[in-house]
Amino acid sequence: NWEHVEQAPPDPIIGVTDAWRADPDPRKLNLGVGAYRTEEGKPYVLRAVREAETQMLADPASNHEYLPISGNADFCRLSRTLALGAGSAALQEGRVATVQALSGTGALRVGAEFLAQHLPASNPRVVYLPSPTWGNHKTIFAKAGFQVREYRYFDKASRGLDFGGMTADLSSAPPGAVLLLHACAHNPTGVDPSPEQWASLLQTTHDRQLLPFFDSAYQGFASGDLDADAASLRLFAASGMELVLAQSFAKNMGLYGERAGALSVVCRSKAVATRVESQLKLVIRPMYSNPPMHGAAIAARVMGDPRLNAMWKEELKGMADRIKAMRSALYRELTARNAPGDWSFVLKQIGMFSFTGMTRPQCELLVKKWHIHLTLDGRISMAGLSAATAPYLAEAIVDVVTS
Ligand code: PMP
Repeated sequence: NWEHVEQAPPDPIIGVTDAWRADPDPRKLNLGVGAYRTEEGKPYVLRAVREAETQMLADPASNHEYLPISGNADFCRLSRTLALGAGSAALQEGRVATVQALSGTGALRVGAEFLAQHLPASNPRVVYLPSPTWGNHKTIFAKAGFQVREYRYFDKASRGLDFGGMTADLSSAPPGAVLLLHACAHNPTGVDPSPEQWASLLQTTHDRQLLPFFDSAYQGFASGDLDADAASLRLFAASGMELVLAQSFAKNMGLYGERAGALSVVCRSKAVATRVESQLKLVIRPMYSNPPMHGAAIAARVMGDPRLNAMWKEELKGMADRIKAMRSALYRELTARNAPGDWSFVLKQIGMFSFTGMTRPQCELLVKKWHIHLTLDGRISMAGLSAATAPYLAEAIVDVVTS
């Protein structure tokens, strides 16, 4: 029956880790994976998370019953407050519908499905994604029936934002189109708009009547400050416009495999939010019925308990600071080896990744000759680097860009 089934290509991101695992060379480095690593290259479980888990295990009332379709209600409430801020008018007016989701990916998928079904018939089923963007965005929206279009984002020459191109592309978008925005720490480029540019993008969004869909996968990871990293989203929400928000706790709480995330739809009124939530449940029920409880329970405890919350914020700052230290280390090592060109973008880019501009053949050489595993678009995970490995990476980069 399945003879005709063709071999599918490996996932461009997950495949990097598979290749790294299979590489027997002791010098091998995994700079593909978007997961935080310690100085020793090990996965990191936050102390706040460990403690929340210990408390949960010790609780005699804990059980393994089903969650509601919309998930853990405390988790949903705390998640949207974390993103929008306690002072948010939308929250105070009760006009935000939130459901728990299977991490950021699941939130995007349920969100896209809901939009495809419930956007007014007059709205085009068109989504605008930054070029480049996280690879899964395209497939997620295409699977939900959206026509995917790109807006200019990364400027190769400056390795910064092509703000003019972005504004021009959005200014010609049809009214009612969905506009996907990375809330902070844009993946893969590490390039974010400035506060002034965000204000201008808000105006363009408003003028063109676009529907913003914020993907917030790195809140707290960019600057080390949860509030600062939500500034773009809060600016848009404060304007009173409707928007959609996908949140992930994979990176900022290190809950990758627990699949803890949330989808929120900011509506015009409480009555609309209630109806929207009822429809989100109809999207979820035939997909996976209800979400898993463990990760969301941990996240709810960490957000809801003042002591664990303070501990989390400190650890989050620690992770962000280590990544920034790796940026300085790599820049220093590259400069010391007279790497050709200007590498100061390594210092300026934000979040987990650096988008180096290395070509595909250069990346392939890094993998083959140097056993440094990365996605072939030249993106390197700064979180996978350590003080011990930064000199080796710099040596390898100088080799592949000059050979
Ligand atoms: N959006 C972006 C921009 C991401 O980088 C990621 C993770 N790589 C996600 C969403 C989703 O991740 P997860 O499903 O693990 O939360």
